[in-house]
Amino acid sequence: MNARPAAIVTVGSELVEGLRVDTNTAHIALRLGRHGFAVTEAVSVGDDVGVCSAVLRRLAADHELVIVTGGLGPTHDDITREAASSALGLPLVTDAEIVEILRPFLARHAESDARDQIFTQALVLEGAEVIPATTGTAPGQVVATPGGTLALLPGPPSEMAPMLDVVLERFDTRRAAPRDLGVVGLPESDVQFAAQRALAAFDGVAFTVLARPGDVRALLIDDGAGPDVLDAAAIAVAAEIGDACYSQAGETLAETVLRLARDTATTIAVAESCTGGMVAAALTDIPGSSEVFLGGVVSYSNAAKVALLGVDAGVLAEQGAVSTEVAEQMAIGARTRFGADVAVGITGVAGPGGGTAEKPVGLVIFGVATANGVKTRTTQAVGTPSRAALRARSTATALDLVRRELLKA
Ligand code: ATP
Ligand code: MG
Repeated sequence: MNARPAAIVTVGSELVEGLRVDTNTAHIALRLGRHGFAVTEAVSVGDDVGVCSAVLRRLAADHELVIVTGGLGPTHDDITREAASSALGLPLVTDAEIVEILRPFLARHAESDARDQIFTQALVLEGAEVIPATTGTAPGQVVATPGGTLALLPGPPSEMAPMLDVVLERFDTRRAAPRDLGVVGLPESDVQFAAQRALAAFDGVAFTVLARPGDVRALLIDDGAGPDVLDAAAIAVAAEIGDACYSQAGETLAETVLRLARDTATTIAVAESCTGGMVAAALTDIPGSSEVFLGGVVSYSNAAKVALLGVDAGVLAEQGAVSTEVAEQMAIGARTRFGADVAVGITGVAGPGGGTAEKPVGLVIFGVATANGVKTRTTQAVGTPSRAALRARSTATALDLVRRELLKA
């Protein structure tokens, strides 16, 4: 299927000066993808008629759809109408219906110039179709261009989103939502090759890998396959990746852990040192976690490990805090003290300081305690990952160890 080229333009000096983060582009790009468009450019421009007009002229020439947001309000810096008018060579004309809609807002203004200015929002490109405002006052406009269609939408995301849906209704090619596979504990290129192997058997499925520390996601995108083939492809990719793939339905790892715990009526506790509560935070981020998550201890000091988890002070002194013995005892301590079915303990050297030849930065040891006893897992980061990346990855590993216990439950 040939995707049709589309472009996004966000207008506002606050966006290019770093005062506001542009969230409209991401929202619009995802929606355009679902409607069979390929976004080839996304541009932000300041409140400058000349710059904005030049960008619109260029993009309108060869894009089937150009979505523009922002700069449609009544104030002096709202330049989008004027820029579009000059870019497309279409005069701005006053729309009588919009004037009537705006009239009740006049009374709000004490400044008489502000009362006059409000009607700049009634100016529409000649021949444009007006999309009435839903929540704000600025209406949207849709107009034909040399390349296809151009839509002007207001900047505030909550006003923009429903109007975008109205614009997209006229383009009928709907695509299935991407299938979003979560993978833990595999490098992203391994995920890529496994997925590509599985996808060789499927037509019309595009594929991308998104990776963050501790989280790799394989996205299968409908490129003509349709929902049923996409589902079959997701099953095939998950099977090829193996048990490192924890979800095909966009779940996060913590959500998967909680779902499995709920399904098996298994309770969870944690004992965290180098992750400082991140595992507990990941679980409690999710509503309803109280059903199965009992609690956690952030035992950062040796004294806390002894007092709160019952770790043996002699073992701590002999083996050090980052040791399999201490990881085991942290997990057992959390399990017994919280009365949980499964508990995980995490202890490691998060860096950047504190590493030794024997226990370098990036060494993290996990203990998992269940009714069947306690196991440990030792990981050593390759290279010099940042403290943040190491902690994020350790959080994922801890959740994954719990997940693997739950799969057996
Ligand atoms: P209004 O009638 O509300 O003025 P407008 O079309 O003129 O509508 P702008 O003045 O450009 O919109 O933007 C209003 C507000 O909307 C900004 O202060 C900002 O909070 C938000 N906004 C604008 N563009 C974006 C964007 N691309 N991403 C996120 N927020 C945005
Ligand atoms: Mg404005």
